[in-house]
Amino acid sequence: MELYEYVGNLHNHTPYSDGILYHREMAQAAAQAGLDFLISTDHNIWVTGTEGYYDFKDGRNILVLTGEEIHDLDRKPAGSHLLVYDANTELRNLSKNPQNLIENVAETGGLSFLAHPFERAAPIVEDAVYSWRDWHVTGYTGLEIWNYMSEFKGLVTSRIAAMFYAFYPDIGISGPFKETIDKWDKLLSDGHRIVATGNADAHGQTYSMGPISRCIFPYEFLYNAVNTHLVSRQKFTGNKSIDKGIVYSALRNGNCFVGYETPHPTRGFRFSASNEHIDCIMGEEISISDKSIRLIANAPTQCNMQIVCNGQTIAESRNQTEMHFIVSEPGAYRVQATINHKSRERSWIFSNPIYVVP
Ligand SMILES: [Zn+2]
Ligand SMILES: [Zn+2]
Repeated sequence: MELYEYVGNLHNHTPYSDGILYHREMAQAAAQAGLDFLISTDHNIWVTGTEGYYDFKDGRNILVLTGEEIHDLDRKPAGSHLLVYDANTELRNLSKNPQNLIENVAETGGLSFLAHPFERAAPIVEDAVYSWRDWHVTGYTGLEIWNYMSEFKGLVTSRIAAMFYAFYPDIGISGPFKETIDKWDKLLSDGHRIVATGNADAHGQTYSMGPISRCIFPYEFLYNAVNTHLVSRQKFTGNKSIDKGIVYSALRNGNCFVGYETPHPTRGFRFSASNEHIDCIMGEEISISDKSIRLIANAPTQCNMQIVCNGQTIAESRNQTEMHFIVSEPGAYRVQATINHKSRERSWIFSNPIYVVP
């Protein structure tokens, strides 16, 4: 089975809303971090004319696409930010009704993800909590299970904590909030197909505290942290339109995993399932039919892996690079891996599920 992996970040802001880098500079930061693609998602503005391949001297080409982060500016309490991809039209005027917005995104053939679904307050930066508030909605593509800047905000509980984690963020960063993973597992066990992504939410803002002023965090730093890795059967061609289709098809289907690159790069992780007839990858389905199914996870370095179904860990391995498990029950099976970094076990990889069907 020939597979192609493309690493990208799907949540980024430019000066069209509240970020500091324009598309070309952002693409340059991505090139330096070794990414393959980026999606800009400015608040309530669908920016046109910036999509395409950006070429850099060292021969790295970065595909930049344009999505949007839509939310109701008048909402009290604030929150319910929706990441919209591939709608190819401005939909911010639908922000007051999230269900209607999600349906309209789907009608355009686009994708929608609930951004930073659970957040924690950071009183000292006077930032509100922008959790998802409208849990009655249905029909969205997925959840942004890990948002680096949102997790960082949750660490900033005092001035001392802010100073400390601004310089040593990876001592604090440990993984998605438990509420988010529990919600994802609940949706999966209820039979919904929910795609998980992990992103930077890069803005490049500068925070000042006394005499110290610091950009928390530069885009390039964030592109070496939490990313979404597409694992596709299709290979990029260098043609913007075709490759855009490959990116969005992989995202729509959940042919992807979330990786935290700081402890160790996650490129090369694979999760697949096979019976005697076919092999399938993350996001695909496989029939239990008459024979049992073998799940296989491979990691690029030794780590601790768990296979999770219906919110339960059904198998576990420690300090391995490979794990096998035979399943005989239908369900959504996903892998999560942890790794030791700075004296603590931290979240490292979250696969999307493979759907084992009757
Ligand atoms: Zn947001
Ligand atoms: Zn954002």
